Amino acid sequence: MVHCRQLSRSYASGDLYVPAVREVDLDIGDGEFVAITGPSGSGKSTLLNLIGSLDAPDSGEIEVAGLALHRASEAEKTEFRRRQIGIVFQFFNLMPTMTVRENVVLPLALRGDDLRAGRERAGELLALVGLSERQEHFPHQLSGGEMQRVAFARALIHEPRLVIADEPTGNLDSANRDRVIEVLRDIHHRGLATLVVVTHEEEVAEAASRRLEMRDGRLL
Ligand code: ADP
Repeated sequence: MVHCRQLSRSYASGDLYVPAVREVDLDIGDGEFVAITGPSGSGKSTLLNLIGSLDAPDSGEIEVAGLALHRASEAEKTEFRRRQIGIVFQFFNLMPTMTVRENVVLPLALRGDDLRAGRERAGELLALVGLSERQEHFPHQLSGGEMQRVAFARALIHEPRLVIADEPTGNLDSANRDRVIEVLRDIHHRGLATLVVVTHEEEVAEAASRRLEMRDGRLL
């Protein structure tokens, strides 16, 4: 699903040159649940964003779901993100004026799909994340953990092959964190998508089928 060869990405900030990801070699198989851990500033988010095609490398090669991202056009990458990638953020990023169900269907609406099947699928995914009763509620009526479970349902609505999540439990109390971990396990066990999750939480890393550790931009 993911193949990185000598992948590097650096940032210039003022006079400072920051090598955020350095010569990373990595292979992730279809259906894996991979946790990326490591200290703050070690390059985890940068690597995740490269895998999700949200950022481009300075050098090296990266192939995800069959597309060579390092030489793909912007149009190819836009299409790739619409079809192949689901993204979950630390702060949920739900639309406050839309109901839970509308939020889940939104990615399909944005790409112009027929919404009838989408609404049904949204109901199934909300059942998967334990929120069947909340479909017509608005985000402000939910707890942080519930909002994050909605975000996972939304990330899955277009049946992406890969879901990336950056600190999905970083803003949650332990009970809500445990429910989100259950959702991650469920996605993995049902084979719904390959999962790559950046986390500093031991409980999340333990739920993964493989754990990667970063230090100073390198994979240990
Ligand atoms: P982590 O996710 O492990 O905390 P990041 O990938 O966010 O690490 O950052 C790795 C390094 O790259 C850090 O030193 C960070 O300050 C730097 N960095 C990340 N994004 C930018 C940016 N947009 N501009 C400048 N430096 C950045």
